[in-house]
Amino acid sequence: MTDVQDIVIGAGVVGLACARALVERGREVLVLERNAAAGMETSARNSGVIHAGIYYRPGSLRARLCVEGKQQLYRFCEANDVDAVRCGKLLVAVREDEAARLDELAANARANGVDDLVMLTAGEARELEPDIRCAAACLSPSTGIVDVHGLVTALHGHVEARHGQVVLDTVVTRIEGIDDGFHLDFDSAGERGALTCERLVVAAGHGTGRIVGTLACAHGYTVPRTWPARGHYYRLNARHRFRHLVYPLPDGAWLGTHLTLDTGGAAKFGPDNEWIDRVDYAFDDSDARRARFGDEIRRYWPTLDPASLVPDYVGVRPKIYGPGEPVPDFAIHDASVHGVNHLVALFGIESPGLTSSLAIGEHVADRLTEASET
Ligand SMILES: Cc1cc2nc3c(=O)[nH]c(=O)nc-3n(C[C@H](O)[C@H](O)[C@H](O)COP(=O)(O)OP(=O)(O)OC[C@H]3O[C@@H](n4cnc5c(N)ncnc54)[C@H](O)[C@@H]3O)c2cc1C
Repeated sequence: MTDVQDIVIGAGVVGLACARALVERGREVLVLERNAAAGMETSARNSGVIHAGIYYRPGSLRARLCVEGKQQLYRFCEANDVDAVRCGKLLVAVREDEAARLDELAANARANGVDDLVMLTAGEARELEPDIRCAAACLSPSTGIVDVHGLVTALHGHVEARHGQVVLDTVVTRIEGIDDGFHLDFDSAGERGALTCERLVVAAGHGTGRIVGTLACAHGYTVPRTWPARGHYYRLNARHRFRHLVYPLPDGAWLGTHLTLDTGGAAKFGPDNEWIDRVDYAFDDSDARRARFGDEIRRYWPTLDPASLVPDYVGVRPKIYGPGEPVPDFAIHDASVHGVNHLVALFGIESPGLTSSLAIGEHVADRLTEASET
């Protein structure tokens, strides 16, 4: 007999969404989180955008879970009084020769089930956003923004209102397979402890690889390496008239220096994409970075005053590919991949992980339920 039925390591949006899906199925769940509050790492350091599902490879988990997750997230926010605004986004082709790429992206979006995109001429785009300059644009009406802090609080509440508990200040240091499940060692406020559970979800963001690396997995299984890539955000410290999010065309997996709004209407720009050696949230406000942000923003907003850009914050993507390598799908590993029954480990949950969080939670709970029934 184990101490608890299910343990989830990590109380970011994804870990909490997994815990929510499990308690909804009647499981008793403990969430272990190393920080003093839930959702303080990647979940607190992103753009807060509810993505439509435009960019991702059709048939991939990213595409499917983003499109499903978007609908679920809007419904969840409405039912739980979390601020979410379906403000829409303009994807802009700044030069004439970029316009064909809008058609390619729209075709990709349709293949993902996103069929509400509207192609706009430059004049039509300016009717929506008078300050932007472009050759053509594409409106995504289902893109929106969410108050991530409110979402984390609501998910936390859902878990604890059922058979769940979120335990903070608790670092899981090692996991081990035992006859009827798992044994976990942890440090909590300077004290060492141990717990056992039947089923385990490792949703520890940047920490998943290190934790899963302590477990004996199937011969031949390699824990994915995580490559951190940081993104800086500058806040706009000036009045503005933007009502939509504005995105340039993507550059590979990077969505470009875009303009996003928060649910209060404040504007920010970013994130850039910089490979780093280890997770580091320090803001590097160098002249070169400011100049680059200014140049990229002025392509679609020529009247930007660079002096109105104020350093805001840094987020770090838990990428599972290095510079120049092909972009892989979300890596949600179960026994069919790592050979360990009743374990799901999540790697590389970068964007659109926030949008997809509720759908990822259902997907993980399905994987565990299917494994328990076979
Ligand atoms: C710059 C940036 C912009 C983004 N923009 C968007 C966007 O606009 N829209 C979108 O959909 N997605 C976006 N994303 C992606 C989204 O933020 C992530 O996919 C999502 O937040 C991942 O949540 P998570 O719960 O997996 O990870 P995290 O939020 O990192 O949570 C993992 C948790 O595990 C805990 N943990 C780690 N190790 C241990 C341990 N040993 N013991 C106990 N606890 C541990 C950590 O403290 C942390 O709280 C963005 C990401 C970045 C970096």
